[in-house]
Amino acid sequence: MTHIIAVANQKGGVGKTTTTINLGACLANLGKKVLIVDVDAQGNATSGVGVQKAQVEKDIYDVLVNEDPITEAILPTKHKNLSIVPATIQLAGAEIELTSQMAREMRLKLGLHPIEDQYDYILIDCPPSLGQLSINAFTASDSILIPVQSEYYALEGLSQLLNTVRLVQKHFNPNLAIEGVLLTMYDARTNLGAQVIDEVRKYFGDKVYATVIPRITRLAEAPSYGLPIVDFDPKSRGSEVYEALAKEVLAAHGE
Ligand code: ADP
Ligand code: MG
Repeated sequence: MTHIIAVANQKGGVGKTTTTINLGACLANLGKKVLIVDVDAQGNATSGVGVQKAQVEKDIYDVLVNEDPITEAILPTKHKNLSIVPATIQLAGAEIELTSQMAREMRLKLGLHPIEDQYDYILIDCPPSLGQLSINAFTASDSILIPVQSEYYALEGLSQLLNTVRLVQKHFNPNLAIEGVLLTMYDARTNLGAQVIDEVRKYFGDKVYATVIPRITRLAEAPSYGLPIVDFDPKSRGSEVYEALAKEVLAAHGE
């Protein structure tokens, strides 16, 4: 069975892309076939798995706006069992171009349909907004994984995100679920982080993963080498925590 998970939070810099890449690579290491779909015009997931954007011929824009077959846009990565549908800056125009098109909310769902059975996990790296691209991601997904930065304003904006989830459930995808809430960039040196964890657990209950991702410099360094942390520094703390997260995600699906 394929699980399609949107990694989403309309706040930028909370760890969406870092989580998409590293959860993806860890699930692949655990024997799953994984496809990352980059739906952010910044293309950080694309470069983060070592794809040179200048060399990309077809990307997610072509799938969404031109309805090109997604098979033409899928690229392998150096990591076994991990592929990507890349994004480049041309995606920046898609929000506006989709507005005047038929079935605009369904484009990603329709695009993924022919290939979804070939993967165990499809992870969609969402942009930092709740526009057309995120709505496409939510419509195409079984569930949403929400990274939340362990800082004072962590919960700010989440009601807006959950509102969008409810709208998508109502109009396009009644089965959309919350996969889990992931605390990221936790800093053990401040009391603040612990307070935030309590607050997020009070709000989301058992949806919050037991695994908390600390602030770890190696995790921020790996993307510039185009490698997931498990390839960049396999024995590091960053590898350990994302491996633990991958196991939690599998366990949640009885795997
Ligand atoms: P988003 O996709 O939500 O905008 P990113 O995953 O790109 O967020 O993370 C924002 C920045 O923080 C990036 O430079 C990334 O390398 C860095 N980063 C992400 N997670 C961590 C972490 N756990 N520890 C240290 N740096 C991190
Ligand atoms: Mg990102």
